[in-house]
Amino acid sequence: MKKNLNINFGKICFFCFLAPAMFFVGTIFAQESSPTVATPDMSLIDDVEKGFVSLFNGKNLEGWEQKNGTATYEVVDGTILGTTAEGSPNSFLCSIKDYENFDLRFEVKVDDELNSGVQIRSVSKPGYKEGRVHGPQVEIESGPGSSGFIYSEGTGRKWISADPAEHEVFKNGKWNHYRVLADGNRVQTWVNGKPIEDAEIPAVESAKGFIGLQVHGLNKKQKGPFKVQWQNIRIKELDGKETRSITAIKGTPTVDGKIEDAWKGVPRLVTSRSVDELNELGEGKAPATAWVRCMWDDGHLYCLAEVKDSKISVSGGDEWDRDGVEFFIDGGMERSDSYDANDAQYRTEAEGNNSAGSSSELSNYKSVVTKTETGYLVEACIKLDTADGKKIGFDVQVNNDPGEGRRMSVMKWNDPTNDSYMSSAGFGTLEMIEK
Ligand code: BGC
Repeated sequence: MKKNLNINFGKICFFCFLAPAMFFVGTIFAQESSPTVATPDMSLIDDVEKGFVSLFNGKNLEGWEQKNGTATYEVVDGTILGTTAEGSPNSFLCSIKDYENFDLRFEVKVDDELNSGVQIRSVSKPGYKEGRVHGPQVEIESGPGSSGFIYSEGTGRKWISADPAEHEVFKNGKWNHYRVLADGNRVQTWVNGKPIEDAEIPAVESAKGFIGLQVHGLNKKQKGPFKVQWQNIRIKELDGKETRSITAIKGTPTVDGKIEDAWKGVPRLVTSRSVDELNELGEGKAPATAWVRCMWDDGHLYCLAEVKDSKISVSGGDEWDRDGVEFFIDGGMERSDSYDANDAQYRTEAEGNNSAGSSSELSNYKSVVTKTETGYLVEACIKLDTADGKKIGFDVQVNNDPGEGRRMSVMKWNDPTNDSYMSSAGFGTLEMIEK
């Protein structure tokens, strides 16, 4: 979306609605009239980028194919230069290979007048709008703008990002460093090192597909040609089995089932790994998932789980057959095949009932549950040894009964097996820090 000159009619209604909320008017920097070849800003590239492979060889477009419009893509001095073409719809230069879970990094520079974006997990099928490229797009546009937020390109669903508020992180006329971390249904983005989006991608979007470099079509008022340029496009594929880690921030929230200010800015994890052997929901049915934040103080770990569950049911026979959340602790981080004295498992059901695993002490646990528009919220306090810099094994599980009187889906943060109640070997890592 370009505010001044380039009106994208697909997004216009959204911006009519958003307009009153746009209260920061940005400084317009001196612009270069079109992107030029430049040396990459090496300070933005990690010293060590282990496991990354280049998606672009810097010489030709091997590994890429153009879909949809007639914009031109050419290699100029080690960069991919895209140029608009009159009368063309949106064009995409697409990786031939499909990607599912990955860490993608690239640099981009775009004319102020041009809207662009990078498609992830996108597809083009003859049976859908004659091959129209569609899927999640990470926005690229001059600032102030919504760069880094995620738009559902070609589907009519508009923004995936709940609040694509304009910001000034994008450096107009200069190279901008993007990072897109797509791991299960969670996609996080950074622009120039600043976190922009941390979104749950709806199941209706494709889970796997190509990476696509967009050159937007011109609207009637635009003359063009406009240019967009990419370089250093590199990717690391994730196999979905990496040990995840999260930080808990020091603080003492009131355990009352409300999201008080202290929770703001605390990093979130999402239970995006499915315990396949327990998932019986079938195609297209979304399991219950949770976003979880953790805080700690002397002797306590606090967990706030926001659970998305479209139908609450606690009629199952066993505690784990009912809608609810389970927390797993490996206090000594031994990652052992059996529970020892500092390991624990606690459950809180959607209606508030607490229970503990067979070798865990329920008196070390308390929780408060509140209902939300999209499910329920569990705020819990677990007694354990804590200290600044201490690392423990940790996991979260969401049990879901869709109304059948038994559990039909289980989602975890790290361990994709159903063994967490007897083994800490698959837990993720939680580190307690001051801030
Ligand atoms: C729960 C355990 C339960 C087991 C039974 C697990 O998901 O965490 O508490 O004993 O399921 O299959």
